[in-house]
Amino acid sequence: MDLGQIAQYCYNLTTSYLRIENATSVISETQDAIKLTRRCFLDDIFPTWSPLNSEISFSYNGGKDCQALLLLYLSCIWEFFLLTLEHSLYDPKYHAFPLKELPTVFIDHEQTFSTLEEFVATSSKRYCLSLYESGRDNERDTSMADAFKKYLEVHPEMKAFVIGIRHTDPYAANLKAIQRTDANWPDFVRLQPFLHWKLANVWSFLIYSNEPICGLYGLGLTSIGSINNTLPNPHLKVDQDDKPNLMFQWEIEHAFSDSKDASGEAVNVSTVNAADLKLLNQPQDRYLPGWYLTDDSLERAGRIKKE
Ligand code: ATP
Repeated sequence: MDLGQIAQYCYNLTTSYLRIENATSVISETQDAIKLTRRCFLDDIFPTWSPLNSEISFSYNGGKDCQALLLLYLSCIWEFFLLTLEHSLYDPKYHAFPLKELPTVFIDHEQTFSTLEEFVATSSKRYCLSLYESGRDNERDTSMADAFKKYLEVHPEMKAFVIGIRHTDPYAANLKAIQRTDANWPDFVRLQPFLHWKLANVWSFLIYSNEPICGLYGLGLTSIGSINNTLPNPHLKVDQDDKPNLMFQWEIEHAFSDSKDASGEAVNVSTVNAADLKLLNQPQDRYLPGWYLTDDSLERAGRIKKE
């Protein structure tokens, strides 16, 4: 698929989720969350910063939050594209989509899991991202702010960045959907239309989407940091007598697909790299997959605090 096609696919997927009726309470809450994010993009963000002429870059690290937001961003870009054609005499299919790749930035500043790096690479292809990767090699000590400064030196046309941060993330309780960076950061606008999302909303939408998600979540990770500070979430450890209760069975069974014969049987996860498997999959311990955890306050319990 090219960028126009994947944006249209994400639009169809989002519309399909919004049309679900009388399923579960988490689905109706997530539908409200999607509607708010969509209004933020279409009414507040795109009239000022167009996603079609490289004023916005998407901050992407392959994590679940930015992936869920990316699906919605693409969906809204498709709607925005259709709006720009409103007065055209010709059907949208006769108009070429104006962008080939979506500007995206990945600050690869920590020692990342190979599975995550591989997932960033495969998902970048699927979503037609033009991925600027900072970090790597000898630049890994650079701070996030300096990495963005460098990116802006290469891409001075960028005015704003979409970020998949949520109010329940550390230091995010008082953030706003649209705000300028703090004084100690390079000057740009932070676009944060995902703040109101809860963990359960993220899983519900991602699982229904049927898009491959990073395989590390399947090993009990619930938030992915560096290799040195991320473990399976201790609240997902399984005792033999546990009968785990999954909140998203409906989403698995009715997962989105544009092909009629696809059947939803399991969550779609990317392949885990053998070295990561060895590191995280300790035979003495068993963990449920990350999507069994829906308590926002425990999301980062698998992150080891740095001394
Ligand atoms: P998870 O918490 O499961 O790892 P996530 O990485 O999407 O998911 P956070 O770690 O809470 O979520 O980060 C919030 C947002 O900040 C991301 O969604 C992304 O937009 C941005 N972000 C975080 N780290 C990076 C990075 N290294 N490079 C680019 N963007 C990043």
